[in-house]
Amino acid sequence: MKIFVVNAGSSSLKYQLIDMDNEQVLAKGLCERIGVTGAISHKSADGRKYEAETPMPTHSEAFEAVVYAMTKSEAKVIDSFDEISAIGHRIVQGGAIFKGSCLVDEDVIEKISELGAMAPLHNPAHVLAIRACIKTFGEKIPQVVVFDTSFHQTMSATAYMYPLPYEYYEKYQVRKYGAHGTSHRFVSDRVADLECKDKKDIKIITCHLGNGCSITAIKDGVCIDTSMGFTPLDGFMMGTRSGTLDPSALTYIAEKENLSPADINTICNKKSGMLGISGISNDNRDIGAAADAGNERAKLAVDMQRYQILKFIGSYIAAMNGVDAICFTGGIGENDPELREYVCENLGFLNVKIDKELNKLRGKEVKISTDESGVDVFVIPTNEELAIARDTLSIISK
Ligand code: ADP
Repeated sequence: MKIFVVNAGSSSLKYQLIDMDNEQVLAKGLCERIGVTGAISHKSADGRKYEAETPMPTHSEAFEAVVYAMTKSEAKVIDSFDEISAIGHRIVQGGAIFKGSCLVDEDVIEKISELGAMAPLHNPAHVLAIRACIKTFGEKIPQVVVFDTSFHQTMSATAYMYPLPYEYYEKYQVRKYGAHGTSHRFVSDRVADLECKDKKDIKIITCHLGNGCSITAIKDGVCIDTSMGFTPLDGFMMGTRSGTLDPSALTYIAEKENLSPADINTICNKKSGMLGISGISNDNRDIGAAADAGNERAKLAVDMQRYQILKFIGSYIAAMNGVDAICFTGGIGENDPELREYVCENLGFLNVKIDKELNKLRGKEVKISTDESGVDVFVIPTNEELAIARDTLSIISK
């Protein structure tokens, strides 16, 4: 059975075709500059490639290009889209409405659209992609939506409320929703598998560290707290996002520089974090290289990010009254042994011990803690597309 996984942005569309009989990727690709010009790059699992520039005024033309790439191009992997059993969409914001993945119908599309007020860069694009799929493939291929937020819907009000006047929660649903839920769920399931334990019986902290970063505390098998908040800006510093800071710092800067709320939003989302501090890049590889070469601001950015990650982990250890397993994932989590070593060394009070040779591995699933360690520490490459495909399969099988 083949599942087509879609991750749509306003001008881009990432996709994977996954054979669920063996959970192998058959093809993956990316459409870019939708609404501007249009380009597709597509690759089959056996390494054949198809690249083309073709007009994509809307997501519909992008899907038509995908159909061509998959069924007719030199990198074709299927004869027709009739071979595809279902389509699974990644959706950024499910608010308090969607507590799990579900089948798409008109009501679901409308609700995703309404939640666009809280995710203006993402949800409207997801709706365009769902509608474009209906236009391109008809109603006969079922579509499933999988939300970044739904794994975090188990948080209690104690964890998700902001201490603002209550009316803003009532009027505008301002509260913590979290993000990266599909990834936190995927890697925490895998931690339980590797521990050969029921997830309900272990306290897990999952650290998804990529361009966007978040840390989640999982107890009794469910998320009890997570670092991202009302939007993916909350938490600790990321590639270009600030994470948590004193709101007064922002109102002060806004007054000094005569900035609008939209300006502040741009500064905190696009110009802050590792980029803002280092002044070099949002990419940890560039910043690490500059720090090694003696750049003080790059070194400061690296030190700040590590310290903030450690503090979040520490706070979740307190929130859960302990921790059994810590897991690193995402581009940074999977590839930065020094960051992992820093965190583990500073958890020495819990007798955390890692094998420095195993910790040097990058991008591989590995338990880096030793048998004597007080906490098991894992690196687990995340696979959100596979998680979406699994949910899609499970929902259409019901
Ligand atoms: P996204 O959130 O966009 O999916 P990724 O999970 O791909 O991002 O993570 C991107 C981050 O991972 C970048 O900061 C990048 O520097 C870092 N990264 C990726 N590969 C490596 C590597 N081999 N060594 C160190 N950092 C890496």
